[in-house]
Amino acid sequence: MRSSGTVDVAALVASARQGSPRAVARLITLVENEHPALPEIMAAMASLTGRAWVIGLTGSPGVGKSSTTTMLVRAFRGEGLRVGVLAVDPSSPFSGGALLGDRIRMVDHALDEGVYVRSMASRGHLGGLSAATPQALRVLDAAGCEVILVETVGVGQSEIEVAGLADTTAVLLAPGMGDGVQAAKAGILEIGDVFVVNKADRDGADSTVRELRHMISLGDRTEPGTWRPSVVKTVALKAEGCEELVSALRKHYRHTSASGELRRRRVHRAEREVESIALARLRERMREMPNGASLPEVAERVADGEVDAYAGAQQVLDG
Ligand code: GDP
Repeated sequence: MRSSGTVDVAALVASARQGSPRAVARLITLVENEHPALPEIMAAMASLTGRAWVIGLTGSPGVGKSSTTTMLVRAFRGEGLRVGVLAVDPSSPFSGGALLGDRIRMVDHALDEGVYVRSMASRGHLGGLSAATPQALRVLDAAGCEVILVETVGVGQSEIEVAGLADTTAVLLAPGMGDGVQAAKAGILEIGDVFVVNKADRDGADSTVRELRHMISLGDRTEPGTWRPSVVKTVALKAEGCEELVSALRKHYRHTSASGELRRRRVHRAEREVESIALARLRERMREMPNGASLPEVAERVADGEVDAYAGAQQVLDG
């Protein structure tokens, strides 16, 4: 795994493109491990990407994300679309995602060649989503997934980050949990393009819908041409409301395609992706500056009071 020589990039990309689940899995593992061949792999795939529709699903644990994902996979597969599922758990330090993998009940899709399911439990240095997540999305995109569902455990900041990765974000709530109020608190009212009140077989679904609609109406997305978030009721376990949900998601996609918002989101996403790679490289390089200008050497001089931190920073940059 250490040397890039052990990876036949061209062959791997070619098999992934032909739909080999093994090749896709291997590529995502290379992405997760930040394999040295990654730049080469991504270069080989770049021209194959940019086609997938990325749908983010987020919400508190137990609200029904996995069940909804399963329901949506079935619906999109029913249309003959190729589907990718990426389950991200940024709260877990484990990568490889056995935990989340177990949680996804996709037994009926396991043998279906048109579905890739992958979990990533890895998190980034700063506690947010791992930098690998956008690259994993690109792998699924290049492998021909027309729809990619990104499911995340709703833990604070990661919800916002998932919204940043998706073309369309669905926020899931369940009745009777005071979830509406929680939504407002957590700021997820701003990130939802479609709100899903799941477990609509339980009491209180209608009042949750009303509450959400009311809160949306109070929001500041009233400018003409701006997408007005929709609210859909579902019973994921029985696939009730599935058509309405798919149709609401599609409406958002069409709306943002037509308005140019979709492209803006994608450019913004690419900007953050490039920025994070560039910053990581810069960080590495700062440690390797010659002539006493490396970060550790400069740090010693700052600690000893020889130079101040600003001057030190300038020395590193000049190096
Ligand atoms: P996640 O943690 O958000 O992924 O939620 P899951 O999809 O794992 O669902 C949590 C629990 O709620 C499971 O026991 C599901 O069977 C149940 N559940 C999911 N959707 C529904 C629904 O529409 N109605 C009811 N009554 N239970 C549901």
